[in-house]
Amino acid sequence: MTAKLIDGKAFAEGLRARVAGHVERLKTEHGITPGLAVVIVGHDPASQVYVTNKAKQTVEVGMASFKYELPEDTSEADVLALVHELNARPDVHGILVQNPLPPQIDPLKVIEAISPAKDVDCFTPDSVGRAVIGLPGPRSCTPLGCLMLLRDTLGSLSGLNAVIIGRSNLVGKPMAQLLLHENCTVTIAHSRTKDLPSVVRQADIVIAAVGRPNMVKADWLKPGATVIDVGINRVPAPDKGEGKTRLVGDVDFAAAKDVAGAITPVPGGVGPMTIACLLANTVTTASLINRLLPPR
Ligand code: NDP
Repeated sequence: MTAKLIDGKAFAEGLRARVAGHVERLKTEHGITPGLAVVIVGHDPASQVYVTNKAKQTVEVGMASFKYELPEDTSEADVLALVHELNARPDVHGILVQNPLPPQIDPLKVIEAISPAKDVDCFTPDSVGRAVIGLPGPRSCTPLGCLMLLRDTLGSLSGLNAVIIGRSNLVGKPMAQLLLHENCTVTIAHSRTKDLPSVVRQADIVIAAVGRPNMVKADWLKPGATVIDVGINRVPAPDKGEGKTRLVGDVDFAAAKDVAGAITPVPGGVGPMTIACLLANTVTTASLINRLLPPR
């Protein structure tokens, strides 16, 4: 059997088009231009790429983009002051402070400073709590992207066994909450889980969010399972030439695609969904701040 390939790149393109439609309606019907502020401290090359992509896609869907590039030695007090200023600005509906931050800045203090109403990453305790009890608001971007791909692939997820490998605040934990709200039976596995292969074998849905190249083997999968590979790992690719690398996921894709029913590739699966969901979250916060129902 060869699994259906879940095309996150194409889905993200469609999502961005839908977001652009919502933005247009907010502008024409309510005079609101959603605005997303992105703050980056220092010169981490990967962060620079992410932030540039975020700003570009924000503008492409018709939103206002505000980019703050601060020097590496910026003090925590200055970052917090900027966040407070953005919290108060009526033209800013989403605030994102790019991680990692330099060591003099406590990322938790920064998260706590962001107004929950503008927390498009869904990192603040308030937003996390709202997501847990199912109140309207932004949802964690990468898990939301995974959920959209799952719904598109499977329709209803009700009653399905989902195994999430990884329990980070960024991916594993919020993913579990989203799947619980879909009426999945959810198991969260992690580095202390005993006999991980047999846990994964129970799953109709496998979400791998570990950061270990090709860790999940084909014989761990129940035949026909839907596999969402969140992992992004850069590995040597000597076949491409000396010193070359390629990106692979946490799942041994080449073998798993013969057992799974559907599977996301890396790259081109979950990755492109994350920024698209960030934009969708900005429409949500812009709507809620203005006491409008967010689009579903
Ligand atoms: P973290 O390092 O924060 O968490 C990794 C999790 O994997 C931990 O819960 C850890 O368990 C668990 N783990 C580690 N080793 C094992 C093992 N041998 N068996 C079972 N579980 C294990 O990573 P993130 O959640 O931030 O990211 C995970 C992956 O997803 C990374 O590759 C990252 O690059 C990628 N990613 C991709 C995104 C995208 O847009 N596509 C966005 C975010 C992340 P324990 O808690 O016990 O240590």
